[in-house]
Amino acid sequence: MNSLIYKKENLSNYSWFGLGGQAESLFKPKTLSELKNFLKGNKDKKKDIYILGAGSNTLFRDRGFKGTIIKLGSEFSYSNLLDKNKIEVGASCLDKKLSDFAYKNSLSGFEFLSCIPGTIGGGIAMNCGCYGYDISQIFYSLKAIDFNGETKTFGKNEIKFFYRGSDLPRNLIFISAVLEGKVSNQEEIKNKQHSLQIKKNKSQPSKIKTCGSTFKNPENKKAWELIKISDCSALMVGGAKMSPKHCNFFLNDGNATTEDVETLINEVKKRVLKKTGVNLELEIKIIGEK
Ligand SMILES: Cc1cc2nc3c(=O)[nH]c(=O)nc-3n(C[C@H](O)[C@H](O)[C@H](O)COP(=O)(O)OP(=O)(O)OC[C@H]3O[C@@H](n4cnc5c(N)ncnc54)[C@H](O)[C@@H]3O)c2cc1C
Repeated sequence: MNSLIYKKENLSNYSWFGLGGQAESLFKPKTLSELKNFLKGNKDKKKDIYILGAGSNTLFRDRGFKGTIIKLGSEFSYSNLLDKNKIEVGASCLDKKLSDFAYKNSLSGFEFLSCIPGTIGGGIAMNCGCYGYDISQIFYSLKAIDFNGETKTFGKNEIKFFYRGSDLPRNLIFISAVLEGKVSNQEEIKNKQHSLQIKKNKSQPSKIKTCGSTFKNPENKKAWELIKISDCSALMVGGAKMSPKHCNFFLNDGNATTEDVETLINEVKKRVLKKTGVNLELEIKIIGEK
């Protein structure tokens, strides 16, 4: 059991921003019973727990995280076909891998996941999506463990999903989900995956240290447009800047600290509010000691 708990683990290796200090501990359970035993044996309830997927939406602060990061290992990354139109998928399965599994099994509805770099656990937490599609549209049920180690299950009518979130309690570790698609033609599925990927590559940067869209789109507005008209897109703080291709994608040019990124975020928020009256809300999760 001890071999799975890493002390003083460098969090910059676990976030797409490539930034962050150390975690007091990072726990990578190999099995469900290891995870349950860990949670049941965890008497220090005051210590923070953060569940990490692929870290494609998580920015860790420079001063690290005083608590335990839980990251489900590859053993939670399975996908199985159930009936003809449902897939049971482990929470650490990558979105792209699931999209390809659905394609191989002639199931449509999962194509948009080929464009999102996270895990299914992170995707459910964020209700991730693009181009009019999101997880809630294919969601069927969820199995989770709470921080006391108790199993919880949720059917689709028990959860209210909204733009980039849901009303699920915070103290849950998603273990697996059942997602539901439509039996379809493989060629059509491949074409749809392809056209969504082309659309994305045209409008968004790749191969940069970023967590994608920093701010949520306010209702009927685009965050990037608000940033642009507020004359922010050329701002820089240390090594933190915005992608010239998509100014809502904040990035680490290789020399940034998280403090740089947060300072830039706050400056952009301030300028957008002043110019447009809109108070931008963060989409990315900023975690750790201030
Ligand atoms: C280049 C790029 C492009 C992107 N494009 C898109 C896009 O088109 N659409 C979109 O919606 N997002 C996009 N994102 C953001 C990101 O990929 C999504 O939010 C994704 O769903 C996050 O998944 P993750 O596993 O990386 O989550 P993490 O960053 O690891 O975590 C995000 C949240 O999920 C929670 N979480 C993760 N796993 C679990 C679990 N097992 N149980 C409970 N909670 C969990 C975390 O606690 C946290 O609150 C993009 C990011 C990048 C870097």
